[in-house]
Amino acid sequence: MTRAWLIGAGPGDVELMTLKATRALAQADVVLVDDLVNPDVLQFARADAQVVYVGKRGGHPSTPQAGIVAQMLEHARAGRRVARLKGGDPFVFGRGGEEQQALHEAGIEVEVINGITAGIAAPAAIGIPVTHRDFAQGVVFVTGHGADSGEPDWAALVATRMTLVIYMGMRRLGKIVSALIAAGMSADTPCAAIESATRPEQRHVLARLDEFADAVARAGLGSPAIVVIGGVASLALARAAVEANVVDASAVATPTPGANAR
Ligand code: SAH
Repeated sequence: MTRAWLIGAGPGDVELMTLKATRALAQADVVLVDDLVNPDVLQFARADAQVVYVGKRGGHPSTPQAGIVAQMLEHARAGRRVARLKGGDPFVFGRGGEEQQALHEAGIEVEVINGITAGIAAPAAIGIPVTHRDFAQGVVFVTGHGADSGEPDWAALVATRMTLVIYMGMRRLGKIVSALIAAGMSADTPCAAIESATRPEQRHVLARLDEFADAVARAGLGSPAIVVIGGVASLALARAAVEANVVDASAVATPTPGANAR
């Protein structure tokens, strides 16, 4: 019997969680919840489940990773079924790999349940496909964080000519853009930043590469956001169309026939 699950809760919209995830959640005795998880997904947990928030709350530092693993081990060893809920997919920049290793080393069986990662959900929410035959042969998911594992090799990534999807890139956006331009990426490359994708408060900015960091700063966009750099970003829908799709079609006024016709 599974004692522990690593569950992807998806990017925010509760309906983007998988059926498998909701079923596992319904069996858990203890649920350890990360920051970026929409608390609404807890509707699928048992009413008597113990829910522990282990993310950064109100500016407090997050529970250290070792502490989270220790809690998972303690509950699993006590015979409780533990669900570890993470935003997006647990194995994409989610430290799920480390948690799986720790549980395996302790002899505890763990089941991984995929979630829809923000790196595809956020672009899609504004009409951007991460691959498209006319624009890119592939996509690179990369962290812009620049801490622990060091700076990505931006010049090597530019040379791939693939779509760049950057997680955790907002704080260092100016530096990243400069590095891409220095590596020869064209100044007019289309870019998008999507904040709080698939949630009601979703916002985005579209700009060419050399104007992108300023445009994002002017709009006051911050974390959590996904950055998309590459020709596919030119396929983003206009803001009104995004609102019509994602929020509520009735909120967008019907255009007067003939006005702005193209
Ligand atoms: N495991 C997660 C990623 C965790 S890293 C996943 O697969 O999606 C955290 C980063 O994910 C954030 O800094 C941001 O870049 C991105 N992110 C997560 N949820 C997001 C959302 N709803 N909208 C935009 N970006 C998001």
